[in-house]
Amino acid sequence: MILNKQAGDFDVQAVRRDFPILGTTVGGKPLVYLDNAATSQKPRAVIERLERYYREENANIHRGVHFLSQEATTAYEQARETVARFLNARESRECIFTRGTTEAINLVASSWGGQNLQAGDEIVLTTMEHHANIVPWQLLRDQIGIELKIVPVQDSGELDVDAFKSLVGDKARLVALCHVSNALGTINPAKELIAFAHERGVPVLLDGAQAAAHLPIDVQALDCDFFTFSGHKVCGPTGIGVLYGKADILGSIPPYQGGGDMIDRVTFEKTTFRGLPERFEAGTPHISGAIGLAAALDYVTEMGHGVMQAQEQDLLAYATERLSALPGLRIYGTAPEKVSVISFIMEGIHPNDAGEILDADGVAVRTGHHCTMPLWARFGLTGSIRASFAFYNTREEVDILVAGLEKVRKLLG
Ligand code: PMP
Repeated sequence: MILNKQAGDFDVQAVRRDFPILGTTVGGKPLVYLDNAATSQKPRAVIERLERYYREENANIHRGVHFLSQEATTAYEQARETVARFLNARESRECIFTRGTTEAINLVASSWGGQNLQAGDEIVLTTMEHHANIVPWQLLRDQIGIELKIVPVQDSGELDVDAFKSLVGDKARLVALCHVSNALGTINPAKELIAFAHERGVPVLLDGAQAAAHLPIDVQALDCDFFTFSGHKVCGPTGIGVLYGKADILGSIPPYQGGGDMIDRVTFEKTTFRGLPERFEAGTPHISGAIGLAAALDYVTEMGHGVMQAQEQDLLAYATERLSALPGLRIYGTAPEKVSVISFIMEGIHPNDAGEILDADGVAVRTGHHCTMPLWARFGLTGSIRASFAFYNTREEVDILVAGLEKVRKLLG
């Protein structure tokens, strides 16, 4: 990476060369990858780290006395330290490796929810949640009879904070909300909401799947009780993610899955479990994934969130201006605090048809419900076209998107 860290002097072409896939062509056209909210692309540093692991270090971890096992164990545990630094966790044992955000939330619903909730208790969610932060709570509701309270979203895509405050009532036992909306881009005022919930003794789970890619995260400053994110959205591999939880909470809840590595002693009569973090990492974990994730977090940290945010906010402002000028195009999600995600519909045109025409020009956008069906129902829609930008995107790519949408209008409009 060749980078002048002063915002404005950001050398996007040098950064793009770190990502081999960005040189791909689609049907003879250069790839314009604007589906970063679904998954980010991977820099060479991550790809090469994964290759080096399998070429030089591969072994199962924790149980081996031999050289390679110790190498792999060290790299895996160092990855946990990197995650803890990235989140500013007090201790690395508060960071549990999971398959991703989805598994992390299911872990909390099952282990924390199973122990702490009973019929009649309330969980506070919001209309803008991803299905991953809805369905695990519904499964629990159907098992034990908890109730889900849903905080509405305003027309701008901002959370209705007054409604939030009235919904965190006497029966509320947990608030679970997204830090950043994957469909609207809205950045929720997490710190303020967490402080409010805590004043009422209610813990908070923050779904950070979208936040981790765009914002510096400080779980101590946020004071969230749980924070989840997925490696693949922060330049890391798929199949690896993190559940952060405060040590006193994680340490007091039962394991999620049983198996090897999470036990202390097993007899047929009784099994005792290890402490944090192993009690939540049953079986052989995604060793290479964790190590690749650490390489990704190092890459992002080295670049600096300030530099990334400046580039992304420039793209957001430019794309918002250009898209808004297209006739019959309406943007959903206009919160003043938002990340570089733009959801829109084109009057009279099905999002999927637009997506296919864009694809023929090498432009990758996501179309559909983005795993937020209740949110779209709130806006009277079934979905949108979503362009989501990363720091390695360019204004020229925004222009190609706009030209593609003009073509869509000409062909279908
Ligand atoms: N929450 C949000 C806000 C997301 O954007 C996503 C991924 N689209 C998830 C949860 C689920 O993440 P994963 O599929 O990586 O588990």
